[in-house]
Amino acid sequence: MTNNRIAVRSTALGYPRIGSDRELKRALEAHWSGRLDAEGLERAAAAVRAEMLDDLSVLDSVPTGVFSYYDHVLDTAFAVDAVAPRHRRGDALASYFAAARGDAEAAPLEMTKWFDTNYHYLVPEIGPSTAFAARPEKAVAEFLEARERGLDARPVLVGPVSFLLLAKPEDGAPEGFRPLDRIDDLVEVYAEILAALGRAGAGLVQLDEPALAADRSAEELAVVAAAYRRLVGVAEILVAGGYGPFGESLPVLLDAGVEGIALDLVRGRSDLEALEALNVSRETFVLAGVVDGRNIWRTDLHEAARLIERVRAVSDRVEVSSSSSLLHVPVDLSSETALEPELLARLSFARQKLAEITALADPDGPRASRQATPDAWRDDAVRERLAALGADADRRTPYADRRAAQAERVPLPPLPTTTIGSFPQTAELRKARAAHRQGLMIDADYHARMKAEVAAVIAEQEKLGLDVLVHGEPERNDMVQYFAEQLTGFATTAAGWVQSYGSRCVRPPILFGDVARTAPMTVPWTSYAQSLTDKPVKGMLTGPVTILAWSFVRDDQPLADTADQVALALRDEVADLEAAGTAIIQVDEPALRELLPVREAPRAAYREWSTRSFRLATSGVRPETSIHTHLCYSEFGVVIDAIAALDADVTSIEASRSKMEVVADLGRAGYASGVGPGVWDIHSPRVPGAAEMAAALRLAVAALGTGRVWANPDCGLKTRRYEEVVPALEGLVEAARTVRAEA
Ligand code: GLN
Ligand code: ZN
Repeated sequence: MTNNRIAVRSTALGYPRIGSDRELKRALEAHWSGRLDAEGLERAAAAVRAEMLDDLSVLDSVPTGVFSYYDHVLDTAFAVDAVAPRHRRGDALASYFAAARGDAEAAPLEMTKWFDTNYHYLVPEIGPSTAFAARPEKAVAEFLEARERGLDARPVLVGPVSFLLLAKPEDGAPEGFRPLDRIDDLVEVYAEILAALGRAGAGLVQLDEPALAADRSAEELAVVAAAYRRLVGVAEILVAGGYGPFGESLPVLLDAGVEGIALDLVRGRSDLEALEALNVSRETFVLAGVVDGRNIWRTDLHEAARLIERVRAVSDRVEVSSSSSLLHVPVDLSSETALEPELLARLSFARQKLAEITALADPDGPRASRQATPDAWRDDAVRERLAALGADADRRTPYADRRAAQAERVPLPPLPTTTIGSFPQTAELRKARAAHRQGLMIDADYHARMKAEVAAVIAEQEKLGLDVLVHGEPERNDMVQYFAEQLTGFATTAAGWVQSYGSRCVRPPILFGDVARTAPMTVPWTSYAQSLTDKPVKGMLTGPVTILAWSFVRDDQPLADTADQVALALRDEVADLEAAGTAIIQVDEPALRELLPVREAPRAAYREWSTRSFRLATSGVRPETSIHTHLCYSEFGVVIDAIAALDADVTSIEASRSKMEVVADLGRAGYASGVGPGVWDIHSPRVPGAAEMAAALRLAVAALGTGRVWANPDCGLKTRRYEEVVPALEGLVEAARTVRAEA
């Protein structure tokens, strides 16, 4: 126990960079719209960096270079000059934003999800002749900014192996080329950057290798070994992961001679056992990542202190740290005055997490255990109902029979046309919502405004000649928050913003207790829409996995149990929709892919509980009621079995950007029910012509046969304008008619 009285140092792997009041978001958007010049933007950015350093200065050592104008992977691409020729402009900032957002001349880099988070990074494009060159200016400048304040600063960069593993081959790269083939050239440029940092006075440098939290082949591990053997000759290197255990990469990194390793002791605790078994030198520098960088619950300081002790048993050089960058949590709890005290007392945002880290580093600091979940947050009725349902969450009738019953109830032409749910959120709608929120518009007026919008959306769809209509979702601020606000066990924050990509931030609800539905959440809207038309109107719900993925979720019980509770609430909503006469109910699961574990081993269990919770939500209906689902990403390989296991009657999916490849994949996977491959990429303002959409439909019909294919866009239309939506949907209806006539 005497050991406990020795202080350890404190640090964190990274920090929110959008500003505590989203100052950078506003400055960026003003700059992009021409209202703020580059100098003004840089002033705003410097203020955000100063605020970050103010916060981080409570730590013994401070990560630097973690500020970003848009994305840290893009920053790394610029640091090694891996800038696509189409994004090169006279001015560095213009090049940067051209790559991030596109401009009149060039499409942006592709954006994709960062591991199992809701953060999106920009995908670097690498080719055989990408001319890497060292551009250490940003890293050096931010290091010096911290040093000038007398801080012990540690530059942070995305490591070379992850950078290449996260990249994609540039257009026109030869068949078989992989970005990782360029590792030797890239490592030389990293060596130059490290040398420049060294000349500026940097000691230890943190290289983030989050891609090593995924399964890596022997060949990739050999690349890791060679890259790090070279780099440890130039600088002292700390390798951080942050998204689970290093696993097989851990001994490789240590063997390569890295100075230190940052362990994720929240999700990657097996690394600690590995470290204990490895018999490493006591000189190995270890960051004990015991404060969760991915969630907003207070740390169990008692438990964390025990973990730190275990690390200290193998190493004499330990620092307390966050498990990942704190990028994924909001900055400060102090604006959350409306939260109930019991909940507030259990929360910790980035600033509070820094205080936890320093408390753990202090031998006399508090060591309180996590408080138990209050009884008031427990709902025995929900638990008893779930227990009574047991493992039985499946529809009674096999798909083939359901299909016949559904066709009889709602006769539809081949290639039925529909949309994914939302219609444009116009400026007037957003204005009405803001006025309502600020108390300037009374409930009755707001409701009347939203009903008028539903009526207009129904009339528009009838005019377009769509077969299955939607109410348009005008009343929903967000597809998760809308439900979170109506379910027990959820709270929403006033300012709990988290960066999703670039200037875009989301405010995830907090799922803290048992979840139950107290009243129908969507039925009046759907029923009202149905009362206006003879065409079928789809009910529209968000699925349990997506509700979890886009919330901060309690960590005192398995995710699977929490998912089942959400599913049960949705099951009641589905039943009420059905009772109100809704023949088609869509339950969206756009985040099914996102929560898929990074490593293969835990994936089977994930597929099991995620699809079960979806079936639990949807299996209560009669055979003649049709369940639709919607998934919006095109990388299906890894979840294709899961899609089948949802047992939906129709699945609409993103397909236009991948040129319908997914349809063939579904055909091969033996997926037997209806498919709506998106034929219009709604992420782009471009309106495809009817001929182009007809060609896409023909590909789908060729792979799957008529009778199973639906015609719809890739995703909801809320971000588009009517000027695009009307002609695109006219073309979609025409395309479906054309291809129908050919059958
Ligand atoms: N029904 C939702 C909409 O149309 C689906 C959104 C999504 O897939 N992200 O907006
Ligand atoms: Zn979608």
